[in-house]
Amino acid sequence: MLAIDIDLRSDTVTRPSDEMRHVMAQAPVGDAVYGDDPSVIALEEQIASLLGFEAALFVPSGTQANLCSLMVHCQRGDEYLVGQQAHAYRFEGGGAAVLGSIQPQPLPYGDNGSLPLDLIRAAVKPNDDHFARTRLLTLENTFGGQVLDPLYIKEATQLARELDLTTHLDGARLFNAAIEGAQRTQTDPWDEARRIAQHFDSVSVCFSKGLGAPVGSAICSSRDFITQARRIRKLLGGSMRQAGILASAASYALDHHFHDLHRDHVLAHELAQGLRKIPGIGAVRQATNMVFARLEPHEPDTKESIQTRFIEHMNAHNILVNNTYELRFVTHRDVNAQDIERTLAVIQDFFA
Ligand SMILES: *Cc1c(COP(=O)(O)O)cnc(C)c1O
Repeated sequence: MLAIDIDLRSDTVTRPSDEMRHVMAQAPVGDAVYGDDPSVIALEEQIASLLGFEAALFVPSGTQANLCSLMVHCQRGDEYLVGQQAHAYRFEGGGAAVLGSIQPQPLPYGDNGSLPLDLIRAAVKPNDDHFARTRLLTLENTFGGQVLDPLYIKEATQLARELDLTTHLDGARLFNAAIEGAQRTQTDPWDEARRIAQHFDSVSVCFSKGLGAPVGSAICSSRDFITQARRIRKLLGGSMRQAGILASAASYALDHHFHDLHRDHVLAHELAQGLRKIPGIGAVRQATNMVFARLEPHEPDTKESIQTRFIEHMNAHNILVNNTYELRFVTHRDVNAQDIERTLAVIQDFFA
C-alpha cells in the first residue's frame, strides 16, 4: 500500500475516528429488515426530524438513495429532468434507465448549479402517446461544491408544482450547503438545512462524505413515500440486517461532526488563495469544500502531459488529488492546516 499522507481526492476518503468506532462497537442492534434494529430506527427518526420530514430510510449508498427515490417518483416510461453533469444522471451507471425503466431528460446548467427555469418549462413533454411522461425535477445541492441560491430553489420547485412535477433533491452534500448558507446569513445551520429541504418532496443525504461516517445515506420524505422506497430498497438488494453498527456511526456524525464542516470550507478557501499565488496555475474556483484548478501548459507540454506530470509529482510526495476532468482538491475532516501548507509547498516545488 502507498503511504498516502494527504488525500484530497474526495471527502469520501474520511475514516471513522476512534470515538466513532467505539460507538459502533457498542451500538444496540436488531434485524433491520424485520424493522427492529434500535440504532437504525433512531437514526431514521433523527435525520427525518432534523430535516423536517415525516420519515426517513437508511440505505447503503447515495447512489441507491437517489435510485430508490427516482423509482418511487417515476414509473416505467416516465421521465425525470436532471442536470447534464448531475450525479443522479451522469455518475450512477445509468441506474434509473437500467433498473427503473425511467428516461432521463438532461438539461444544461445555468449559474451556480441551477437548471434555468425556461429550460425546465420547455422540457416538459406534452401529454401525447409519442412522449415519455415527464414526472420529476431533480436538483443537486451542493453542486460541484456550489450552494444553490435559496431563491432559485423556491422558484424552481414552485414551477415544478405548477407543471405537475414532483421534486427530489440530491443532497449528498446538503450539510455543506447548510453550513455555508448559515454562515452567510448568520443563522442556525440546522434551520438552514430545513429551509433548503422543505421545498422538496424527497431529499437524499450522504453520511459517508464530509460527515465522516464509513457507510450510508438516507432518504427523507413522507411516510407513504418512505414505505414505497423501503420496498424498492429490498428489490435493489439494499436491505441490511444488523445495520445499527453503521447507523450508529451516522448518528454520531450528525451529533458531533456537522458543525466541523465549516473548518473544511475555511481550509478549501486557504488552499484556493494559495493556489492563486502560484504562477502556472490557471483559473481557480472554490466553493464550500471543493477547489478546482487548471494548469497552464508551456511548450513542449500539452494540457494532458502537464496534468500527468503534475499528478506524478504529487503522488511522489504522497499527496493524492482528483484529475478526472480538471484538477480537483476536496478538503475534509482528515486534513488539517499543515496538510494544506504542505500541499501548496509541493505544488510550488513542481513549478520551480
Ligand atoms: C457521492 C454522491 C452521490 C452518491 O454517493 P455514493 O454513496 O458514492 O453512492 C450522489 N450524489 C452526489 C452529488 C454525490 O456527490
